[in-house]
Amino acid sequence: MKYAIEAKNLNVNYGKTSILWDVTFRVPQGKLVGIIGPNGAGKSTLLKAALGLVKPLSGKISILDLPAKEVKTKVAYVPQRKSVDWDFPITAKEVVLMGRYGRLGLFGRLRKADRVAALEALELVGMAPFAHRQISQLSGGQQQRLFIARALVQNADIFLLDEPFAGVDLATEKEIMAILRRQKEAGKTIFIVHHDLPSVEEYFDWVLLLNTRLLGCGPLKEVFSRENLCRAFGKSQLLFDEAAALSAKSVSGIL
Ligand code: ADP
Repeated sequence: MKYAIEAKNLNVNYGKTSILWDVTFRVPQGKLVGIIGPNGAGKSTLLKAALGLVKPLSGKISILDLPAKEVKTKVAYVPQRKSVDWDFPITAKEVVLMGRYGRLGLFGRLRKADRVAALEALELVGMAPFAHRQISQLSGGQQQRLFIARALVQNADIFLLDEPFAGVDLATEKEIMAILRRQKEAGKTIFIVHHDLPSVEEYFDWVLLLNTRLLGCGPLKEVFSRENLCRAFGKSQLLFDEAAALSAKSVSGIL
């Protein structure tokens, strides 16, 4: 069986700085993968390298055993919300339809089936009432739902999502996770750059732990250990995060 993503001795630099260093891993298909690591660990860069958006200094990374360029239509990418110009004059439905362009070819035109698929996807993420709204007029959670809808209409096999829950309300986060879980059950592979350590065990069945170097990649139970987290985050940062999570819990218990 083909691997969803495979990296071999992957090195990525920005200028002289090493961002990914000798990263080697394989992720089988059909997993829900959390890409975990501190800020600046190279998580976004790993996704971009997989997509062919940044060129490795050495080594290689492939999707479904092929270079990214050759599997473009099979990969849906949801970039960080803050990296997008939300003032661009375009409606929600038009954004979702963009997910169909990759399948059309150079002179292809959108057909009725494409419009139906876009509406169905909007419906699925609870955005049908906003189909004709300009994207600048949407909340953060709605914008993220829209991105998910665009990824869904692509009918891709591999989903790469870069911090999809940043600045998103908890209800939206849970709904998006439920949608992604169903995609996984349908055999898709989903990679999510994720920040929040306390929800990792609930969300993922596979973990890729990164801090410039790869610190682990495998089933959650094997890789998501305290020891590995200390190696990835450093002991003091981990203790700080745990304390913050505990105090958030006790605050929500009081309120
Ligand atoms: P993460 O997603 O884990 O927070 P990134 O992959 O975004 O990390 O970034 C890794 C490092 O590379 C950071 O120190 C970041 O500042 C740097 N970086 C990211 N993009 C660029 C770029 N285009 N040019 C130079 N440095 C970059």
